[in-house]
Amino acid sequence: MEDGSWGDYDLITIKIRNGKSFPAGRHQPPCYISPAMSIEAPAAQKKVNLRRPDILEAVQAQVLSHYRSELVERVRANGCVLSADSLTVKLAKEFGFCYGVERAIDLAYAARKYFPSDKPIYLLGEIIHNPEVNDQIRNMGIQIISPKPTEDEMTRLHAGDVVMIPAFGTEVGTRKRLEEKGCVLVDTTCGDVMSVWKRVRQYSKESVTSIIHGKAWHEETKATSSQARAYGSGHYLVVFNLAETDYVCRYIVLGGDKREFLDKFAGSYSQGFDPELHLRAVGVANQTTMLRGETEEVQRRFKAAMEKKYGAGEVAEHFRFFDTICGATQDRQDALQKLLREPMNLLIVIGGYNSSNTSHLAEMGEAKLPTYFIKNAAKMESDKLIRHYDQHDKKEIETRDWLPYGKITVGITAGASCPNNLIEDVIRRLFELRGISVQKLLAN
Ligand code: SF4
Repeated sequence: MEDGSWGDYDLITIKIRNGKSFPAGRHQPPCYISPAMSIEAPAAQKKVNLRRPDILEAVQAQVLSHYRSELVERVRANGCVLSADSLTVKLAKEFGFCYGVERAIDLAYAARKYFPSDKPIYLLGEIIHNPEVNDQIRNMGIQIISPKPTEDEMTRLHAGDVVMIPAFGTEVGTRKRLEEKGCVLVDTTCGDVMSVWKRVRQYSKESVTSIIHGKAWHEETKATSSQARAYGSGHYLVVFNLAETDYVCRYIVLGGDKREFLDKFAGSYSQGFDPELHLRAVGVANQTTMLRGETEEVQRRFKAAMEKKYGAGEVAEHFRFFDTICGATQDRQDALQKLLREPMNLLIVIGGYNSSNTSHLAEMGEAKLPTYFIKNAAKMESDKLIRHYDQHDKKEIETRDWLPYGKITVGITAGASCPNNLIEDVIRRLFELRGISVQKLLAN
């Protein structure tokens, strides 16, 4: 593709990491940009490697210019603490962009760089769950279509059109349709999400029903659920919380009203799922961004139900599990837990309101101290008024007199899809509300 044309490739491999390495033991797949896998590439097409230094350098510079923060790096280097006069800000030791999100963003920028600017690139839904990042992606001319394209959108897609799959993946059926169309897929699915798929496909192969601890409405869980049907014989059921887990476990042990069961979980199970037949052998998996403690409890309760029903000696025949919480989610939850042990007046959690991992960080904070879940610094209108997301009522609410007088410590964390520049804005705004110039503070 040296000549700028884009029709002469069959496989493009990119692996861009901004010089950062993945955490030990974590595997991130290289990105394959390929025309539909099911379509035979004409022999004349040749392999093109996007790991050209010119593209890598250009992309890295652009990504850094959009999302990097010198201030955040300085605070991190200072033990994650910034203090002046009556205000101390403490950052959790792990926060913000995870390796999967960094990779997805890098690939989006690389794809835009690689394909000619007049060639449209389509994205299935959001690249990650952060409105500011999605706006940047849109501003680069990448067109956002539905996560599961409508018939109308499908009709408008043609062979050779470039379609990006976001970090949380896409449903098996959607991918298949795009492949059949001959679309060029830029797959940014995170390796940790793919590990869950592998596990769920294995359950499916063994005709074990996948119990997915997750949010049935979330793109990742929809994609994962679709893998449970990959071999035709598998089923799935999504449980959101411990109350739903207990309901299903009771049904396993004691039986119950099938109609009521199916109504209660409408939209959360596979077609043809029958609780009488498909709860005899279950395997637990989870959305990668759930609360670890809750996921472990879900596993324990299902195992206990199977022991009660079939006896401890038979449990291996009826119960499987695999820990699929991703490392980045775990690190952020652990770091926040540690931060929450320190004395603080309040916590600010920054991230997109539809971000699953961010919502769990907010949940952890709420259990301990006043917590404000905001998507950007503009939500801190004054020291008298903050607009923040109430995830239980699923709406933004206002709290007055939220910033206490006197000497205070404010904790800050951010979800895996939140860039450092947004974290910097929040830190600056906090000091500004206390009449302290961060610039001056950093000059010392
Ligand atoms: S939160 Fe975890 S699973 Fe999701 S993109 Fe990041 S590393 Fe991957």
